[in-house]
Amino acid sequence: MAPTADLDALTGGTVELLQTLIRNACVNDGSPDSGQEVRNADVLETVLAGAGLAVQRYEPTPGRVSLVARIEGSDPGAASLCLMGHTDVVPVNPDGWSRDPFGGELVDGEVWGRGAVDMLNLTASMAVAVRHLADAGFRPRGDLVYVAVADEESGSAHGARWLADNAAVDIACDYVLTENGGLHSGPPQSPVVGISVGEKGVAWRRLRVRGTPGHGSMPFRSDNALVRAAAVVHRLAEYRPAPRFTELWTERVRTLGLDDELQAALLDPSRIDDVLAQLPNAGAAAHLHACTHTTFSANVMSGAMKTNVIPDAIELEVDIRTLPGEDAAAVQAHLDAALGDLAPVVEVEVLMDDPATISPTDTPLWDSLQRAVGRPFPSSRVSPQLVVGFTDARIFRSLGSVAYGAGLFSPSLDAGDFARRFHGNDERIDVESLGLTARLWVDVCRDLLA
Ligand SMILES: [Zn+2]
Repeated sequence: MAPTADLDALTGGTVELLQTLIRNACVNDGSPDSGQEVRNADVLETVLAGAGLAVQRYEPTPGRVSLVARIEGSDPGAASLCLMGHTDVVPVNPDGWSRDPFGGELVDGEVWGRGAVDMLNLTASMAVAVRHLADAGFRPRGDLVYVAVADEESGSAHGARWLADNAAVDIACDYVLTENGGLHSGPPQSPVVGISVGEKGVAWRRLRVRGTPGHGSMPFRSDNALVRAAAVVHRLAEYRPAPRFTELWTERVRTLGLDDELQAALLDPSRIDDVLAQLPNAGAAAHLHACTHTTFSANVMSGAMKTNVIPDAIELEVDIRTLPGEDAAAVQAHLDAALGDLAPVVEVEVLMDDPATISPTDTPLWDSLQRAVGRPFPSSRVSPQLVVGFTDARIFRSLGSVAYGAGLFSPSLDAGDFARRFHGNDERIDVESLGLTARLWVDVCRDLLA
């Protein structure tokens, strides 16, 4: 049976390409030889080269292949647009899944598998859109560039960061579209469609806690680094930094379709924390909290050696996400406040320090997105949002591009449920959303570049 035979070409092509990319299982666990995105790059190169496009390959590390393909514009002075997606995915624990995480199955109108929402859905739909435009003989005024990058999920050193440092000319574009936007909110008769215009900063830290080694059979009055590290983790978990609101937060709250009382509470720094603590939907609460707070999540512990050895050093890796305006000194001030009297015994090493980035919305790309979203949803309006995770958009913004996270999902998709699928169990995407997104890219390209 050909399950995609009934779908239009853009939708069917996106479903099939997404299934292939999921099955390639380009799992990035953070080690340099994981990912092996060459497998997805090969598939995407075949799709694009099939339309006669020249495809440039980059392999900074064996197996970590990124691609750049281009439909050359007719006017060298016209603005260029880049559709940019990553080809790697994060690891899974199959025990939590109802289906094979790398099966790419199409079941009841949904494609299942790791990467279905982050972000092989977009990477696939972008490639299908570019292929569709090339096949149709589309001749843009400014360049249309397709970029597929490795290693987004571990900070991009083998992908977009490497390209920015070593091949910036090849990826330089006025406008960039990437993950992640396109969810509906507000009343169905006048929906708001979120477009990401900025993202929080990334300030990963390694915290080292020392002790004195000893025999595990004699713990009394011992100096156990793991016990001290546990206290550090606990203080980070209990730390409650004050909320801080950006202009994007005010806009976001207005788009949620909430009653006046709840809106007012979410916009009141003295009440928001209590409101979020009581919110029935924990996924939504976590997202709204992250939009308005610097966050700290201790996620990796290493260093202990053996059951009968009292450890003398423990390392913790802490995922810290900063709000616009916060720098390394602000991060250290947070850590000092969180750790209190433990701060002097914790050594802090910087793993990553990228500040928050925001693109303006008074741009031709923003207007094109509004028109393209308005085609299937005439009563909708697009609304700027802050991404609480990081994407490669930050790297393109640092090169001077206006970068938005976009996409277009079906109105029935629940934002809270959807958020839980990112790096979560049972990641999947509905076919309608794949078709809407592929069409969005085609419409924006024709609107902006024609
Ligand atoms: Zn992603």
